[in-house]
Amino acid sequence: MKRDCGILLVEDSRTQALKIQLMLEDHGYHVTIAQNGLEAMNILLSNRISIVISDWIMPEMDGYELCRAVRRHDFGSYVYLILLTAKDSKDDIIEGLEAGADDYLTKPVDDSELIARLTTAERIIRLESSLKLRNKEIALLAITDPLTEIFNRGYMNANLPKTIKRAVRYKQQLSIIICDIDHFKNINDKYGHHMGDIILRSFAQSLNSSLRKDIDWVARYGGEEFIIVLPETGLNSAKIVAERLRHKVSEETPDEENTIKITASFGIASLTHGEDKSYLSASEMIKAADKCMYQAKEQGRNRTVGISL
Ligand code: GH3
Ligand code: MG
Ligand code: MG
Ligand code: MG
Repeated sequence: MKRDCGILLVEDSRTQALKIQLMLEDHGYHVTIAQNGLEAMNILLSNRISIVISDWIMPEMDGYELCRAVRRHDFGSYVYLILLTAKDSKDDIIEGLEAGADDYLTKPVDDSELIARLTTAERIIRLESSLKLRNKEIALLAITDPLTEIFNRGYMNANLPKTIKRAVRYKQQLSIIICDIDHFKNINDKYGHHMGDIILRSFAQSLNSSLRKDIDWVARYGGEEFIIVLPETGLNSAKIVAERLRHKVSEETPDEENTIKITASFGIASLTHGEDKSYLSASEMIKAADKCMYQAKEQGRNRTVGISL
């Protein structure tokens, strides 16, 4: 049987290491050998190994110190430590577990007992990695708008103030765009709320896919309003971006029959650095962009208005 988990065997006695290695390989494990704790740490730092079986008494760095060193370091995923040693007093066991070992076995080890302990280790490793994956999914859900699947307002609240602060401190350009779908109430009234949802989702995805990846970002700000954040972008460039997005969404037909057309109005607020801007907050920048967006609405909708702050 081939196993998922690789094992790092830390043992200064070559004969003992070889004997255990052969037995483990017979059971399908891939085994790497280190002769002391230092060597083991170096291997762990450059390889993803999740189970370590370590002897206690070794030169350079012993098993006790290795356990402490492993627990001090963040390897990104859990390292399960088994101490395998001739030291067999109760005090030794307690000391080893307190240093960070997950399990403790005394020499001479019974093969089937070691294999059983490794099965437990694998179960815990699997549990930890599935927990990590779930946590990642939950963290992503917390910042995602469920309908449009772009960032939600919570993400914006957490990130826009930081982005503004950074731009002010380093005197970098920064623009934000607010866009609001024109006469969206009419769309809902005419085609129904479900079609309204489909259009909203398609609109958001269209904005999202047209931005510079990993630099610009868009969040759903409200019902049919979105905020686009463009770091290192001045008013002129932001206008070009907004106009490009405005044309793009007005040309698309989000419904299957390709009949529904929508437009949107865009308001831009851009940071300039003539005077001290450290007072500028996210809400002030949003308010300015919102004002521009309303001007665009008043001027007939489907247009872009911008202002420098
Ligand atoms: P304007 O051009 O002035 O922006 O007109 P409008 O009709 O778009 O503006 P208004 O703010 O009066 O209406 C926004 C509409 O968006 C009202 C609301 O029913 C709709 N809306 C907001 N959130 C959702 C949603 O999640 N799904 C759907 N289908 N409609 C939504
Ligand atoms: Mg030894
Ligand atoms: Mg609207
Ligand atoms: Mg609106």
